[in-house]
Amino acid sequence: MKRIAVLPGSFDPFTLGHQDIVVRALPLFDEIVVAIGDNSAKNRYFPMEFMEEKIKETFHAEPKVSIQRFKGLTAHFALSIGANYILRGLRNTTDFEYENSISQANRMLNPGLETVFLITSPSLSAIRSTIVREIHKYGGQVNELLPYSL
Ligand code: ADP
Repeated sequence: MKRIAVLPGSFDPFTLGHQDIVVRALPLFDEIVVAIGDNSAKNRYFPMEFMEEKIKETFHAEPKVSIQRFKGLTAHFALSIGANYILRGLRNTTDFEYENSISQANRMLNPGLETVFLITSPSLSAIRSTIVREIHKYGGQVNELLPYSL
């Protein structure tokens, strides 16, 4: 059976931290699907289409990585594409508290689904999408936090 992992997130924007998780997980899986949650209740800062293009550009040379949008529950989306793993990054204990309950809920919804966590690389642990958006909004340079240029 193919080992397919979904990395779900808002990716608003996709950062060097996200890229690092994908690259480090490549030896573990046959395919990694970067799944952008299309949660209409949440207004995006970077448009979905734009971010989809930038993520594609980032992994253009990596055939194991693909990008998809999804609506609704991650567990249902994973089932629909035959993925048996969810991939998430952990930066700190706050991430852990949140991810702990989410991963248990996901396994309740889809018992075949395991969540695999990679601990963030220390040099990237301070990068968060919220901060990137804030800097960008007020005209600061964010390219060194991203794997592509804006
Ligand atoms: P969400 O909207 O679900 O919080 P994000 O787009 O912020 O999603 O992040 C998706 C995943 O990437 C989460 O598992 C998050 O912990 C992880 N992540 C975000 N930033 C980093 C980082 N700097 N290093 C490692 N993992 C990260």
